[in-house]
Amino acid sequence: MPSPPPAAPAGLACPRAGGGVWLEVAYAEKDHAKSLGARWDPDTRMWYALPGQEQSLSPWWALPSAFPWEDRAFGSGLFVDLIPDSCWFTNVRSCVSTRDWFRIRKMVYGRAGNRCETCGAVENTDAGIRMEAHERWLYDDESHVQYLRRLVCLCTLCHQSTHFGYAEVTGNGARAFAHLSSVTGYTNEQSAKHIADAIVVWRRRSRYDWTLNLRMLTDAGIAVAPPVRGPERRAVAERQTQAVRPMPEPLGHGGEETGMSIRPIHRD
Ligand SMILES: [Zn+2]
Repeated sequence: MPSPPPAAPAGLACPRAGGGVWLEVAYAEKDHAKSLGARWDPDTRMWYALPGQEQSLSPWWALPSAFPWEDRAFGSGLFVDLIPDSCWFTNVRSCVSTRDWFRIRKMVYGRAGNRCETCGAVENTDAGIRMEAHERWLYDDESHVQYLRRLVCLCTLCHQSTHFGYAEVTGNGARAFAHLSSVTGYTNEQSAKHIADAIVVWRRRSRYDWTLNLRMLTDAGIAVAPPVRGPERRAVAERQTQAVRPMPEPLGHGGEETGMSIRPIHRD
């Protein structure tokens, strides 16, 4: 992996505050942030900190629109991307605080213009379409390190297609399959082949323990909690999997048995 450039966490300057910084405050935390001086800008519908109050509100600083050494061209387009079962339940969401996960998602959605970066869809609550943050991982098959390389804004349908195994066990397999074909231009046969190939990769990767590398986030000043070591992650995956009701439905499309006995949890 290339050495990332040094990154000094900094707040995004808010011109309206004359030197303050923009904030990302979840609704549940607005009273707490207000008590520390956070102000609401009705035009942008964002919170901000006045000059001199930035530090006390630093946990809510809006993130810059790029992470250190993030590759925003990594994993372009729509494709099925199954998480090795030894990595289930440990991901960005599980390793960062609720507050930081909110800040991360707001940044990812905002820099994408609140549009799906794969199909261009926008939120449509009537159709059950919303924006979701998806993690793109680089799997180093030599060192068995799972690197976070990109965060991407996907619509619900693209996210379901990406996590096709999850879509199958939640009853959304047919819709995810149709969306995959629609966006990629694949025939049904091509989509089925694409999914089968992804399952082969998933099976191979699931044999190994993977060390989680979230330096893309830690270099942005975001605290990451363990476990990140491979064997510890597998133990978490096995423990959590046992706690989830087994899914009796076969996975895969067109009757194909994938051998995935539980959903690959990796949701926004
Ligand atoms: Zn989409």
